[in-house]
Amino acid sequence: MELGLYVHIPFCKSKCHYCDFLSYSRMDLVEEYVNALNKEIKSYGQLFKNTQIQSIFIGGGTPTVLPPYLLEQIYNCIVDNFVLSEDCEWTIEANPDTVTNEQVVLFRKYPINRISLGLQAVQDYHLKNIGRVHSFKQWENAIFLLKSNGITNINTDLIFGLPNQTLQEWEESLNTVVKYNIPHISAYSLTLEGDTKFTKMYEKGELTLADETLDRQMYNIAKDILNSYNHYEISNWAKNGKECKHNILYWKQKQYIGVGLGASGYISSSRYTNIRNLKDYIMNINNNNLSVQEGNEYITPRMQQEEFMFLGLRMRSGIDINEFQKLFGVEIYDIFGNQIDRWIKQGVIRNNNNNILNLTDYGIDISNIIFASFLNI
Ligand code: SF4
Repeated sequence: MELGLYVHIPFCKSKCHYCDFLSYSRMDLVEEYVNALNKEIKSYGQLFKNTQIQSIFIGGGTPTVLPPYLLEQIYNCIVDNFVLSEDCEWTIEANPDTVTNEQVVLFRKYPINRISLGLQAVQDYHLKNIGRVHSFKQWENAIFLLKSNGITNINTDLIFGLPNQTLQEWEESLNTVVKYNIPHISAYSLTLEGDTKFTKMYEKGELTLADETLDRQMYNIAKDILNSYNHYEISNWAKNGKECKHNILYWKQKQYIGVGLGASGYISSSRYTNIRNLKDYIMNINNNNLSVQEGNEYITPRMQQEEFMFLGLRMRSGIDINEFQKLFGVEIYDIFGNQIDRWIKQGVIRNNNNNILNLTDYGIDISNIIFASFLNI
């Protein structure tokens, strides 16, 4: 059985203007949080002591904003309580300004073999405008430090469609990252979600977003500049063999444990979500109430079939018609035949050798409409 582990660290130095992730810029409860988190990790370790972990993702927030001694407690807790597969991919998210010598020494001490760095743009004025607290130079320094310590499996996140960002600036960001031989690049379009500073500015008419045409132009530029990479998912490009195993596990509906504030897990056809209030999370765990879930939903076979479609189609390798039959005991065309035929006729999905369905380039541009068509039919 394939099993992943996600660990949420809900702290950041400050809040980026576009960010809706669950993170706090106040650090006063970090020790208490790590104590509680480690108890939750231990409890899942007991439950899954006979199952190997294929991938670990420590995300947030900015995990490396924690002092190294606290991060080491978490790393220790993971290796003491879980059995990691030999080729376990272990990623930690970091911001460039938090990649210090001490942190890198710890990465090397534990089997942490993949670093995901948030950069977003290479122009310092854009970084400042979107509320990032690091400079491009700090990203360069982080890359140098990681590589000189033998850590080369690195992702860098970029965002396009930033306020007033030109096509040339977007090209510059992509070309610069490629020049540094970064093996994995995630490129997302700026979207407004939740109660962020940018959402409020937009509602007051103080922020202009890229229109659909510019957004698609920027996406196409990414496809061109990153053409030496494997474009394996709508927003992700990797050198061969450097695709993110942990994300693929999500897209392939494999099981994963989620620990920490607001984390989600997917175990035995149920998806759970932990509570999102920091004090409640710590208090519940300290009161020996290890169940910090606020929701737990049974994912019916029908829901799993829908997820199979829209998660699988995110990947350029597409979905395997025979695999659907094997997993669900029913033909894909008996369930989704109407939509598949319609989308093939419109040139947004292609059928390769009557076996694999995947999105065409135009299909990627309207992927949200396509995904929605597989829901609740
Ligand atoms: S560093 Fe990342 S998680 Fe933290 S506020 Fe910025 S975007 Fe959000």
